[in-house]
Amino acid sequence: MPKYVYYFGSKRTDGSAEMKDLLGGKGANLAEMSRLGIPVPAGFTITTDCCNDYFAKGAVFPDGMKEQVERALKMVEDEMGMRFGDPANPLLVSCRSGARSSMPGMMETVLNIGLCPKTIPGLIKKTRNDRFVYDSYRRLITMYSDVVMEKAEGIDPEEGKGIRVQLESIMEEVKRSKGYKNDIELTVEDLKRLCNEYKKRIRKLLGRPFPEDPMKQLWGGIGAVFKSWNGKRAVAYRRIEGIPDDWGTATNVQAMVFGNMGFASATGVAFTRNPATGDNKFYGEWLPNAQGEDVVAGIRTPNPINEETKNPQNMHLESLEKAMPDIYRRLDSIQRKLERHYRDMQDIEFTIQEGRLFMLQTRTGKRTGTAALNMAMDMFKERLITEKMAVLRFKPEQMDELLHPLVDPAAEARVKEIAQGLPAGPGGASGQIVFTSDEAVEWARNGKKVILVREETNPEDVAGMRAAEGVLTARGGMTSHAALVARGWGKCCIVGAGMVHVDSVSGKMTVDEKNYKKGATITLNGTRGYVYEGQLDMIDATENPYFQKFMNLADKYRKLGVRANADTAEDARVARNFGAEGIGLFRTEHMFYGEKSEKPLFLLRQMILSGTVEERKNAINKLYRYVKQNIKVTLEAMNGLPVTLRLLDPPLHEFIPQDHGRQKALADSLGISVREVKKRSELLHEVNPMMGHRGVRLGITYPEVTEMQVRAIFEAAAELNKARKKALPEIMIPVTCETNELREQKVIVDRVYGEVLKKYKIRKINYLLGTMIEIPRACLLADRMAEVVEFFSFGTNDLTQMGFGFSRDDIGAFLGTYLEKKILKDDPFQTIDQEGIGQLIKMGVAKGRSTNKTLKVGICGEQGGDPNSVKFCHRVGMNYVSCSPYRVPIARLAAAHVAIEAAKGGKKTSG
Ligand code: PEP
Ligand code: MG
Repeated sequence: MPKYVYYFGSKRTDGSAEMKDLLGGKGANLAEMSRLGIPVPAGFTITTDCCNDYFAKGAVFPDGMKEQVERALKMVEDEMGMRFGDPANPLLVSCRSGARSSMPGMMETVLNIGLCPKTIPGLIKKTRNDRFVYDSYRRLITMYSDVVMEKAEGIDPEEGKGIRVQLESIMEEVKRSKGYKNDIELTVEDLKRLCNEYKKRIRKLLGRPFPEDPMKQLWGGIGAVFKSWNGKRAVAYRRIEGIPDDWGTATNVQAMVFGNMGFASATGVAFTRNPATGDNKFYGEWLPNAQGEDVVAGIRTPNPINEETKNPQNMHLESLEKAMPDIYRRLDSIQRKLERHYRDMQDIEFTIQEGRLFMLQTRTGKRTGTAALNMAMDMFKERLITEKMAVLRFKPEQMDELLHPLVDPAAEARVKEIAQGLPAGPGGASGQIVFTSDEAVEWARNGKKVILVREETNPEDVAGMRAAEGVLTARGGMTSHAALVARGWGKCCIVGAGMVHVDSVSGKMTVDEKNYKKGATITLNGTRGYVYEGQLDMIDATENPYFQKFMNLADKYRKLGVRANADTAEDARVARNFGAEGIGLFRTEHMFYGEKSEKPLFLLRQMILSGTVEERKNAINKLYRYVKQNIKVTLEAMNGLPVTLRLLDPPLHEFIPQDHGRQKALADSLGISVREVKKRSELLHEVNPMMGHRGVRLGITYPEVTEMQVRAIFEAAAELNKARKKALPEIMIPVTCETNELREQKVIVDRVYGEVLKKYKIRKINYLLGTMIEIPRACLLADRMAEVVEFFSFGTNDLTQMGFGFSRDDIGAFLGTYLEKKILKDDPFQTIDQEGIGQLIKMGVAKGRSTNKTLKVGICGEQGGDPNSVKFCHRVGMNYVSCSPYRVPIARLAAAHVAIEAAKGGKKTSG
């Protein structure tokens, strides 16, 4: 029979930090803390395997598990010196979820299990605190009915109709009628009455009584935690984070300790360093006389943990350091020990029960991109971690956020903020306000930028938070769910802006008596915690001084080259600033779009609509000057770094003018009638332009088009060389599928090369000739293709299109459903489909190198900047990846990560 239950406590501990897959992060770390001699209330972890077996049997506990739980519970009783369900000396336990990787607030917890009429008198006698006991009972009834009796049963009430909200409104009503401001003012009598009212409402609404048998409560709790793995929030979060469904969650059953036993008791959440900035300061929040959920639920604004890290919102509140100096010192030494032991920033939870400190949790803390970078560099300097560990600590996916916009300080200086809160997620964001998660998703789907405004930080809002540009909440602290989730994503977020009153029912927020209706625009500065009316300008994040140093470290390990896709001298300069080592794709046709393109575009149209070779040559000769100039400035900007110049690959139909004025001008220039222009345009119409007369096919039918471009490239390079400037063009032929295409084009290249050498009286121009590999047939015949060229560049946009048979322009119609139904894991146009298209790529590389040992291989499809795809490119032995300039640092880091991981023993990344 499998071992389903792992004990932890001061007397014995079965698990350890290494067992995260089986015990979940929380369980593994509770075991590890017990091993380190840190005070942890005794308990046991029911494994993730057990969770999976439970689901496999149709939500039935597997054989043998019951006995193991009962045995472990007995050990907890022995260690704590209390009995579960005992009238005189009752033990209470908590039931908490804990998956392999942290999913903050996405799954369920039930506290105070074991309280019932039978055990209440005993606990009152022991604690001499009847208020505390009834308050705990009230909390148990609320949580249990919500988590076990409603959510776990799959009941999905409308917003505002759930049992928890209903019970809370009963409490609010009592508070209002008695004129109380705070929960703490509720008397024992109030609480007793509340518990009775709650039970009546539960029976009425859910049709079953609240169970008063401790064992029943416990099994209900365990089952509900397992089921919360498949709860709505958890599933939504997993989808966004790419966490597999078959991991399952562990359940941790642990002796309760109480932070709400009076003012010598407290509870708190803290980080060993600041998770928003990376500052090496012990940072956290605590609440006297409260239970853990009070801190994270954001109902009260929590106190600061120490003097050093107070902020404007909690300045007036007493720190733990002042209130309980001895305990603070112990906690401080434990947090140092934990950080040293785990060699990483820890996110810890603790409870103080009548002057005794207990640690309830430690885990590696989520952090913003800025904090990740700063901490990695600091810890490396402190010799807490090695250089390689430092590089791995900053994830390529997080870098994006470092390159995110900030609110322009100049714009900010001109206006006054309307509200202030805690700076929970960095950067700036502007958008229209919405008040529910569904609205945020809906509006964003319609292309609107939205700011999700909520009263409380509620983990049910993940999808809306994801869709929003930024998140603003009226309550909650830096460790609230919204703050944790937003920070994990690097999303701009402000929490605890107390002056904001949110009325989600009528769709408005009120600040200082001014109303802001749904749809009004506001701006958030998540780095400082300020809220502004209207839209403020944004600027690029200023360079972090650590950034360059960090990138230099990463580059030490990187094996893969990183280039950029760029079509102008300006893009080329941006790319070089980001560390690009060349241009991997210069799309010649882009000079015919956008600014200053009117004249060359006119000439291109002339060329396309020419009826004879003579007409075409005439247009080409005029176009030549523009093409050469464009290529020359880009080659010059790259100063001798390779520039892959792709020959024209225009979807011809896109360039044909539709309006009469332009058609007339063309007609005049060609000396033909407008009717003739229209007729020739119609002849160019293709049913399937993506598979039509494009790429090399154009060069085969109109060799003069290839000749013009090749001449432009060689002459641009020759002129730069003559001016003692460096240039390294790489001529790339697109959309090839047959070696004869290449051979035929090569004849033109060789001839023009000779002619240009002669014209400029030079002996040599450095260049390479290559082809894109973007048609499956080219992969299959890559060995023959490689005999003609010196490099391959995988065009994974077209290769994915033709490999899947998915139109790259029309995938939107069905991709959403494909992802939702998990028919596909990812959008293959964003991240390489390693299983399918990946095989074509692997084959292409291997076959190519089999006939051409020195063949250079790269990628220039959109996936070239996606971290997982970059890692794949390293593993198949490419020489470089090429991506948009802003993604160059991300690709550099991903390349460093994969090189380090491969050296460590080939750790595979997802996909
Ligand atoms: C490709 O197909 O991957 C590619 C880079 O070329 P384009 O996107 O211009 O077709
Ligand atoms: Mg292509």
